[in-house]
Amino acid sequence: MSAPDPRDRGGPGTPLLSVRGLVKHFGQKAGFLSKGGAIVRAVDGVDFDIAKGETLGIVGESGCGKSTTARLIMRIIRPDAGAILFDGEEVGSAALGLAAFRRQAQMVFQDSYASLNPRLTALDTIAFGPRIQGLGARAARAQAQDLLHRVGIDPIRFAGRYPHELSGGQRQRVNIARALALSPRLLILDEAVSALDKSVEAQVLNLLLDLKDEFGLTYMFISHDLHTVRLICDRVMVMYLGKVAEVGAAESIFETPRHPYTEALLASMPSMDPDRRTEEAPLSGDPPNPIDPPPGCRFHPRCRAAAAPCSRIEPALHAVGGAHRAACHLADPASGHPQSAAA
Ligand code: SF4
Repeated sequence: MSAPDPRDRGGPGTPLLSVRGLVKHFGQKAGFLSKGGAIVRAVDGVDFDIAKGETLGIVGESGCGKSTTARLIMRIIRPDAGAILFDGEEVGSAALGLAAFRRQAQMVFQDSYASLNPRLTALDTIAFGPRIQGLGARAARAQAQDLLHRVGIDPIRFAGRYPHELSGGQRQRVNIARALALSPRLLILDEAVSALDKSVEAQVLNLLLDLKDEFGLTYMFISHDLHTVRLICDRVMVMYLGKVAEVGAAESIFETPRHPYTEALLASMPSMDPDRRTEEAPLSGDPPNPIDPPPGCRFHPRCRAAAAPCSRIEPALHAVGGAHRAACHLADPASGHPQSAAA
């Protein structure tokens, strides 16, 4: 177990990350030449917390807003509205400027090759950030060697290699080591193992679990692979068309999903048992389109349980037991849905 982090200002009860009312719409607004062009509601009022030391999985089909949420948190793109609090302090405020936040929160992307500078060796890639932060060249290189070792790469053989001379798994290990070089508290892993071969993926997942303990990290783990999410996440948040559909403990989400979209996603997981594989697609209807989403519940055109209130009234997130919450009229006894708990 790692020692308490001296940077922990808020104490264990304060989430490491709190996202409140996050909104990002892309596209043209009405103007002189464009009378109300298409607006993509990529992220449309998202709230969640990540506790210190936990791994929150974020799942949903492509276009659901999970990667945009990550980029908004890191301020790779600017939010239209909302606040990001890190250990109780608002990112971008006088108390926690953007540069100070970015030292404590790092991101690892899916494309291990595009993430690396082709002109920097593995060692120089990892040493680059600390050098910019003022660490001396010798110390930065020594730290980079140590980090290469910790992510399972032999520094003697590989420190001088360029990205094109490394395998996909090795490149992703270098990306992870680069992220760790600034001693972050939060790692945002955006499909970070999705492009790897299955055997390499398992190795990198095990590495991530070990590093989490060793460095006292907190993870936001974005993935379309529900098997992987089930394996490593403490809690899971399901997103649909820019909104949170369901959130709760991983066990609760996987064992007793309360949102029909989550049920459909889980039913679409390829079974590990070949005899139980099904050809039937549990998600019917048009794939989600974040341009002009449907009124009421955004999932209603595809939902097996859609009823009268669903196309008119947007469901709020309702508690369905403990910290498990679902944005569905079925979970709200007062919704008027004929199959809700009160009906
Ligand atoms: Fe389905 Fe209605 Fe629940 Fe939406 S609110 S998920 S349409 S039952």
